[in-house]
Amino acid sequence: MSLTPSNEPSFRQSVDLMFNRAVALMDLPPGLEEKIRVCNATYTVRFGVRLRGQIKTFTGYRSVHSEHMEPVKGGIRYASSVNQDEVEALAALMTYKCALVETPFGGSKGGLCLDPRDYDEEELERITRRFTYELAKRDLINPAQNVPAPDMGTGEREMAWMADQYRRMNTTDINANACVTGKPVHAGGIQGRVEATGRGVQYALREFFRHPEDIAKAKLSGTLDGKRVIIQGLGNVGYHAAKFLSEEDGCIVTGIIERDGALFNPDGLNVQAVHDWLVKHGGVTGFPDAAHSAKGADVLEEDCDILIPAALEGVINLSNAHRIKASLIIEAANGPVTAGADDILRNKGVVIIPDMYANAGGVTVSYFEWVKNLSHIRFGRLQRRQEEARHQLVVDELERLDRYLGDAWSMTPDFKKKYLRGADEIELVRSGLDDTMRGAYQSMRETWHARDDVDDLRTASYIVAIERVAKSYRAKGL
Ligand code: GLU
Repeated sequence: MSLTPSNEPSFRQSVDLMFNRAVALMDLPPGLEEKIRVCNATYTVRFGVRLRGQIKTFTGYRSVHSEHMEPVKGGIRYASSVNQDEVEALAALMTYKCALVETPFGGSKGGLCLDPRDYDEEELERITRRFTYELAKRDLINPAQNVPAPDMGTGEREMAWMADQYRRMNTTDINANACVTGKPVHAGGIQGRVEATGRGVQYALREFFRHPEDIAKAKLSGTLDGKRVIIQGLGNVGYHAAKFLSEEDGCIVTGIIERDGALFNPDGLNVQAVHDWLVKHGGVTGFPDAAHSAKGADVLEEDCDILIPAALEGVINLSNAHRIKASLIIEAANGPVTAGADDILRNKGVVIIPDMYANAGGVTVSYFEWVKNLSHIRFGRLQRRQEEARHQLVVDELERLDRYLGDAWSMTPDFKKKYLRGADEIELVRSGLDDTMRGAYQSMRETWHARDDVDDLRTASYIVAIERVAKSYRAKGL
């Protein structure tokens, strides 16, 4: 298929094209290939909420891509661009992402077509509770079957409302808290979940920079220290990634692209200061100490070492791919590079660290939260003054959980040691996330380097993920 700007595929088609590219290099029976690729079901709901004296109708979706493992997992997005094609593409990416980082979930995604900035907090709570009711009554929110999480336009606040609404509808469900992840810490959440996706981007880059061969493929050298970074989107993911990379790894954030324009400063921008400005003023316009560009997208094409699209899908497409100068792109957003742009960039020798790996930190820590909720035991340091016997009880409980969850509980030896020693929750979460990001990179990398017919990390990631999903279907006898 020849791709030109006028026939850019949709987001879902783009994901399928990438899937097909990988599958062509695999030896899967055609029936199984199709079973894995297609989206199992998408539920569309239209519901009314009385707001400002009038009934307002909203359209929401929850798409289940693959139930080879349950519960299925994936965020709920609030944006006016939400549509069926988008949630299906995102649900498919969740299936592959979970398989790649070995969280024992199928893939799902949801969305509500609204701009959250159009509503106040009380209105958003009413809308969210009603949407939750519509999904939960069909088991599309359920700790054993379908576990949402935050995504663009939603966060801890919405997750707390959802969990509370589910609990009201299921008062005897002792595991009700595990019906969504990304909850506030004081409402059943886990420390480190808010920063998790950004932290995962940082760990992914650190892992990449441990491999001189890979660094050379991206036409770079040395370490992360001093690398010039341009980031698109200073939302939860972009903000944390840019903050950690600049404050902890010595990266110089030269460009920040936001809705209302972009900032550029070759000497580096202070990410925290830009973020504070953004929160206060609702945009980057007027921020001092930087050159401004009204057309933010142009800054994507500026010279830099690492480009981090952390906003919407499809921002690097057939119309701008050939002008991108970065030699390393890490996809903090889902689907920021279209299939056609991916071809162009691959041919130019640009290395892309793909979304399904790069932004998997969120779902990884969601998994820790879900396990914490189900286990009903503290996920972290034991109080020193607690008796020895209680300590033993927790150790026994942990080992029982380990036996019970088996493979699903991918506790690495280092993680387990820390858990048993009674590390702080945040220490456990970060070390578990780091282990996960390192392990998943190794598996992608192995395929990337071992096979002559695989010349990019994206195809490698699809091959690893699809193979794992296929194994699970085969084991079930499908
Ligand atoms: N919305 C996030 C993602 O796209 C997190 C999903 C989750 O934690 O379930 O990966």
